[in-house]
Amino acid sequence: MTSEETFELSMPAKPEQPNEIGVAIPDSPESDHEIINRVDWLIDKIHKCEQAKLACMLEIYQNQYWKMDFSSFELFCKERLGFSKQYVYRCINAAKMLEAGVPVANPNQSLALEGLDIEQAKEVWDRAAEVAEESGKKVTAGMLKRARNNKELVDRAASGTIDITLLSEPFMEIVASLRECKELLQLICNSQDGVWMSYQPMAVKLRDIAEAVKFATPHTQCPQCSGSGCASCRDLGWIPKAREIASDQ
Ligand SMILES: [Zn+2]
Repeated sequence: MTSEETFELSMPAKPEQPNEIGVAIPDSPESDHEIINRVDWLIDKIHKCEQAKLACMLEIYQNQYWKMDFSSFELFCKERLGFSKQYVYRCINAAKMLEAGVPVANPNQSLALEGLDIEQAKEVWDRAAEVAEESGKKVTAGMLKRARNNKELVDRAASGTIDITLLSEPFMEIVASLRECKELLQLICNSQDGVWMSYQPMAVKLRDIAEAVKFATPHTQCPQCSGSGCASCRDLGWIPKAREIASDQ
C-alpha cells in the first residue's frame, strides 16, 4: 500500500479521544452536508483499502503461497486470514474482475456478479452504470443485482427457453415449508404447552398462503407470446395458474 492508501482517519472535527481499541475516532461534523461529505470520503477510503486487500489475496492465491504451510487453501484462509474460503473467493473474484476492467470496488458488488463470466459481468456492470448515471449516484451492489435480473429476463426471452419446472422450484419450496409449519403447529397445539394457541384458525391462514403461492407459481409457457414476453405475461414468458384461469373466464 502507498502512504496515500493507509487507513488513517484525518480531518478531525474536534479534539479526539482514543477509544478502547486505541484509534481516535473524530466526532461527527455539525451539518448534514458535512456528514454526507464525510461518509463519502470514508466509503471511498474503505473501498480503496478493499481494492488493495483484493490484490493481496489474489497474489497469495495465484502464486499458491498458501502451499508453504498449509495442505489446503481453505485452511490457510481460516488460520492465517480468519476468513471463510467463500469470502476469500468472493474477494478473488472481485480482484479478477478489476483486472479485466470491471470496476468492482468491494466483495458485495462481486457477489452480485458471481457466476458470470467477464463478458457477462461487463454487460451487467454497464447496465447498472447507466442507471447510476441517470440518478447521479455511484454503482451499488443493489443496482448490479437489478441489472443482472433484467439481463437474465431479456436473455431468457431471447433464447425462447423457459424451464417451468426449474422456475417453479422456489415456489414449491414455500408450499412445502408451509405444510411442515402446519404439521409442527398441530403438534404443539395438541401438546400441553400449546394451550394458548388454537390450531384451526391458524391452519386456515397457512392454507390460504399456500393457495396464493400455488396460484402464482410458474405454470406454463405464455400462450400469447410462446415465451418471448408480452404484456399478458408481464414480459416473463410464463404464466401462473391464476393467469390461465383469468383468461378462461
Ligand atoms: Zn407472453
